[in-house]
Amino acid sequence: MQSASRASARATTTPTRSSGSAARVPVVAAYIPFSTQRKAETASYAKRHYGVASWHLRPSMVVLHFTETTTMSSARNTFAQDVPNTGELPGTCAHFIVDQDGRVYAIVPVTVLCRHTIGLNDKAIGIEMVQSTSGNSAHWADQQILARRAQITSVLRLVHQLQAQWGIPTSRVIGHAMANDDPAFHDLRGWHNDHSDWQAADVMEVRRRLAAM
Ligand SMILES: [Zn+2]
Repeated sequence: MQSASRASARATTTPTRSSGSAARVPVVAAYIPFSTQRKAETASYAKRHYGVASWHLRPSMVVLHFTETTTMSSARNTFAQDVPNTGELPGTCAHFIVDQDGRVYAIVPVTVLCRHTIGLNDKAIGIEMVQSTSGNSAHWADQQILARRAQITSVLRLVHQLQAQWGIPTSRVIGHAMANDDPAFHDLRGWHNDHSDWQAADVMEVRRRLAAM
């Protein structure tokens, strides 16, 4: 980790031994500022797009993303800035970032609504994985993550934990590229996603590995 959050970083969960690949992954607390003002902006966003003025989240699904950056700190810094996206506040964010070395950072509590996937922010935990396309396709980038053992192992363990904690079935783990076609998709302003990160075929591989845990 290279960000200023190093000083305040601490393990929120201690790795505990459980069976095989389902061992708990340690999660480092690297929370971005989420002020009363940002919460109010989030509630207003939720009112405009979902019809409910609340910044609270009770997650029922997971959306997988990659950062399109090469470092965890640059992704975190982007989310920490509360600047308009598509002309609206609050700024974008996600709940977790998984670095390429497998370290998992919690940057927003999963009980707080985050802008990471249009149409599903009121339902979904967002998990970002540090990966750039470097001029290649989104499928290529997905495949880099799937082949990077430390990173994908942590992603799978994190998702597995969240599924157990929130009762989320594997069928409700999707990719950002799948969001517009998701049955739960809704946006009162008619917005849609234009992101191609985590293609359906690559998410099927994630689900296959989750099912094997
Ligand atoms: Zn995304």
